[in-house]
Formats: sequence, C-alpha cells, structure tokens
Amino acid sequence: MDKLKNYINGILTTPYSNNYINVHDPSTSEVFTMIPDSNAEDVQLAVESAEKVFPEWSELPVEIRSGYLMKIAELIKKNLDKFAHAECMDNGKPLWLAKSVDIPRAVKNFEFFASAVMQFSSESHMSDNVALNYTLRQPLGIIGAISPWNLPLYLFTWKIAPALAAGNCVIAKPSEITPLTAFLLSEICIEANLPGGVLNIIHGYGHTAGSAIVSHPKIKAITFTGGTKTGETIAKIAAPMFKKLSLELGGKNPNIIFADCNFTEMLETTVQSSFRNQGEICLCGSRIFVERKIYEKFKNDFVERVKKLKVGDPLKDDTDLGAIVSKQHFEKILYYIDLAEKEGGKILCGGKQVKPEGRCKDGWFIEPTVIEGLPFDCRTNQEEIFGPVVTITPFETEEEVLMMANSTEYGLASIIWTENLSRAHRLSSKIKTGIVWINCWMHRDLRTPFGGMKNSGVGREGGEEALRFFTEARNVCVKM
Ligand code: NAD
Repeated sequence: MDKLKNYINGILTTPYSNNYINVHDPSTSEVFTMIPDSNAEDVQLAVESAEKVFPEWSELPVEIRSGYLMKIAELIKKNLDKFAHAECMDNGKPLWLAKSVDIPRAVKNFEFFASAVMQFSSESHMSDNVALNYTLRQPLGIIGAISPWNLPLYLFTWKIAPALAAGNCVIAKPSEITPLTAFLLSEICIEANLPGGVLNIIHGYGHTAGSAIVSHPKIKAITFTGGTKTGETIAKIAAPMFKKLSLELGGKNPNIIFADCNFTEMLETTVQSSFRNQGEICLCGSRIFVERKIYEKFKNDFVERVKKLKVGDPLKDDTDLGAIVSKQHFEKILYYIDLAEKEGGKILCGGKQVKPEGRCKDGWFIEPTVIEGLPFDCRTNQEEIFGPVVTITPFETEEEVLMMANSTEYGLASIIWTENLSRAHRLSSKIKTGIVWINCWMHRDLRTPFGGMKNSGVGREGGEEALRFFTEARNVCVKM
C-alpha cells in the first residue's frame, strides 16, 4: 500500500518516527493509504527550512510571489479530476460536488490572493501638519495552519494562499482523516518550483503533529479551522506565547423562515443548506425556525422533498448525499438522533443508517433526517451535530425567533427568509452571527470578512482581513 510523505524543505520526506496512520475511504470503510505519524522532530525540520528561506521569500517582488500562487492554481486546475477523485475518496462527498465546488474553490483561493496581494496597501495619517504617520505591513515570519476534514483542500488553501501571498512561510497540517489532496498539493508545489521551505506540509494527528506546530516558539501565528473544543486547547497553548490567533470554530446555525418569503426559492435552498455535503458544512442551517402560519405547509413540502434525496455511492452522478467522513463521526450522528428521540423529538423522515448495495455496502451512510417537536433549548438544538440532521420549530413573533436563534453558544452564520426589507435589516443587526444570509445561502465573495462570534471563533479571514492577519502593522511617525 502507498504511504504518503510529508513535504519539508521542498522534498517529499518520510516521518522521523517511521510510523504511519491508516486512512479510510468512508464509502467502503476500507483503508486505502497511510500518512506519516509526524511529531515534534518533523515540525522542527520544517521550521528550520522555513526560517532559512524566509528572508529570500519575504523580500521577493510581490509579482513574483503572486506568480508562484498563480502557477499553483493553474496546476491544480489542470489536475482537477485527480484532485476531485482524491477528495471524494478521502471525505465521502459526492464526486460531482468535489468537482464543481471544492477543487474549483481551492483554485480560486490561490488566484484570489495572488491578485489581492497586488492591491494590498496600508494607511497614512497626517497629524495636524506636525507629523506624518504611515503603516508598514510586513510578513509575520512562519505561520502554522491547521485545517479540518469537511472541506479539505478548500479550507487548507484558504489559509495557505493568503499567508504565502503576504510573504510568510507556512507549516500546514491537514486533517489526518482527509490528507490526500494536501499530499497532491505538495506534488504540485514541487512542479511549480516553489522554493523549498516556503510551504511545508506535515501529516499526522492533532495532539502530536498539530500540537507541536501550535507550541513551537518560532511559529508566530496560528490559523485554525476546526471544532470549538480543539480551538480552546490551541488557545490555551498559544495565548501565553502571545501568538496571533485566528480561530474558525463550530456552529449551530439558525435558518429563519417568515411566511412572506419566496416559498419556492426558500424550499429549494433550504434542502441544500440542510443537507449539502451530508450536512458537514460549518455553514449549514441545522435549526430551522418557521413562522407558524406556514409551518404545516413547510413541514409537508420539505419532508416530501427530503425523502427524494438519494444517499449512496459518491461516485454516482445522481447521488445527493455521500458517506459520513469517519466511523467515529457516523456514530456521533446516530447518537444525536437517538438523543433527539429521548428528548421528545419526532422523526419526520430519515433517522437511520443506509446500507447501499454493491461496493459501498460497508460504508458509513445516514439518511437525511428531519426532526420536530423539540424545545429550542434542549441538547439536540444546542449542540453541534455536523451531519445530515435538522430540527424544525415553529415561531410566532420576530422577538421570539430572535431569542431562540441567539440562544446557543455559537454564532457563525444565519439564514433569513423574508420579503420584508426592514425586517431583514433589523434582524441582521440583532442576530449574533458573523455571517447573515438574506434570501440565499453559501454565496461567498472572497473579499468579505469571514468568521464567527461567541464560541464560533475569534478573528476574521477573507480578503483584506486575511492579509492584515498575516502581516504585522508597524506605525512609523515622521516629524514634519
Ligand atoms: P477538529 O477540531 O477535531 O480537527 C481540526 C484539525 O485540528 C485537524 O487537523 C486535527 O488534527 C487538528 N487538531 C486536533 N487536536 C489538535 C490539537 N490539540 N492541537 C493542534 N491541532 C489539533 O475538527 P474536525 O472534526 O476536523 O472538523 C469539524 C469541526 O470543524 C466542526 O466543529 C466544524 O464546525 C468546524 N468547522 C468550522 C469552520 C469555520 O469556518 N468556522 C469550517 C469548517 C469546519
């Protein structure tokens, strides 16, 4: 069986420990590759190589750095099918989704930041004609980037691209559950002749390789996307070392539907915002609140629509939901469905494991599940499930739904369906989430600030926010 390698100092490298971790295809449960079980020694090698190349890389003319990113984007695009197959096999998501969303978005991340850094500027302030202040924005040095399994290459490159564009070197770790596209990216970087050490990709577990990145004193900033608990662990290590931190964490997003919405459009989008990528997107709307006047109609039409979704082989073009990413996550989702029933919820559709025939018979699949009859403050409605499970709850007034929407510890994204413009603006300013979608979902403009409030994270990524995060601002004051 093929064993993947780390990418350190521009070279594919075996791990110091010589130990490996099995990687499963969730649609069959079979082990199909192995990744290095890296540790602090591998991270140390990567840091040394990054330190060596940093002066040269950070001082390159910006259009040359930008050119490297464009080259990487071009090579991923050229290998789109190979990347999409890898993402599908690693994560269990439908192949069509990896081809149309995940991999094109990874390409766009490189293209966008290659271009954004060319426009990046800093401020100057004239102080009462006495002094001129200007802001120097310089790269931080070495950045640690740690990403999750749900949108593997999409989120990995969302961190790497702006960090490199701003002139930093990066030590990046993909999720041990979905490492394959990160490995393919190493091969692309070699083909693009990216100078050795500029980007290092270390594979392994979070508590060993990830933790070694977070605690390394020479790594100046950590950009992390993943669970809230992990974010807390990372913050506890990094904060006393005064590292810059960007934490994109969990969510429990409300999808609020008013009776005056465009019903057809809302229904179509709500099916997507509930179950796209098996519900394993941090931005999915897992708590659906429906104005009582249209509750019964919504319930009937929604359930009818959801029952038609096809669960099964991710390689098939007509599959809507593929496999759940891992056995552990599959069991967690089933646990929550069981909990919802114990809490008094009624399962309107789904709720069970799916056992497809043929090559996917041993894979981890779950039916899209809709539950009603639960109080807004029960565990099912408060804790992140991160799977194909949504609850529906009726509401009477704007005040009531706002209270329920804001009742969780999370504050990542919200969706509001209404044709009443004043209400849309009013709610947008009161709902405690970093992103508010009005009459749409997952429209992403890469120039906008992305991130969550409360336990959904600290800091914003995207556009100028990302370039600011990956640079140190220095005020220079010149007396006139
Ligand atoms: P996770 O926190 O278990 O793992 C994420 C990454 O952190 C992995 O690479 C893992 O190896 C690493 N890690 C784990 N422990 C670590 C430690 N002690 N030190 C350093 N690194 C460590 O999350 P997951 O299960 O991979 O992903 C699912 C979570 O990600 C969900 O909570 C989801 O909401 C969240 N998510 C958030 C966003 C966002 O933008 N806010 C986007 C996608 C996913």
